[in-house]
Amino acid sequence: MDLESILFKQGFGSRRQCRALIAEGRVTVAGTVCTEAHTDFALDDLTFDVDGTEWRYRERAYLMLNKPSGYECSRDPQHHLSVFALLPPPLAARGVQCVGRLDEDTTGLLLLSDDGQFVHAHTSPKRKVPKTYLATTRHALDEHQLQALRDGVLLHGEKAPIAAAGASIRGEKLLEITVNEGKYHQVKRMIAAAGNRCEALHREKIGSLALPATLAPGAWQWLDDEALRALR
Ligand code: URA
Repeated sequence: MDLESILFKQGFGSRRQCRALIAEGRVTVAGTVCTEAHTDFALDDLTFDVDGTEWRYRERAYLMLNKPSGYECSRDPQHHLSVFALLPPPLAARGVQCVGRLDEDTTGLLLLSDDGQFVHAHTSPKRKVPKTYLATTRHALDEHQLQALRDGVLLHGEKAPIAAAGASIRGEKLLEITVNEGKYHQVKRMIAAAGNRCEALHREKIGSLALPATLAPGAWQWLDDEALRALR
């Protein structure tokens, strides 16, 4: 594929903008500046530098973000910044979407991808992907509340009770809860329905993929093959 098309497909702007980046000598492939837009490169394991930042050619983008509080999972945020502002412009430009949403004040593991099938598969209610959260509660937790969460609580607007796939006490006011659905404000509403109140919510895991301790709030990283396998 020629260099102009590579940059275009990876989100570096319009074809004209990609040609300009190349002509200005800002793109390096295998250690050599390439100023000819129509030079062909094999895509396997192709890495290139744009303005000194290294990129690998990826047909599809799969990444995780440690979402901080105060960011909306929307390209058109209403009251806060968008999580897309935390990504480098080429990634935001190539059309990655959030794989399910977290509330503005929820922190932790958020997946993003430009693979529509992947996004659909992981957000489909049929798929029942377990998601594990740590919730800080206003009041001390007790066994009664835990049992209610495990047995199922009826949320406003729902026809049937929803049960947590797991619920355990991790501290006096710290609850670990796993849910298989992704309903609006689900965990906060479940905790309220069990007789407590959620003061802070953090997503730790999706499937068996855990947020790495090394990923700082606001930082992102590519999902490697092992991480993708953990999601299957
Ligand atoms: N449940 C909630 O209540 N909020 C989230 O952001 C995610 C799950």
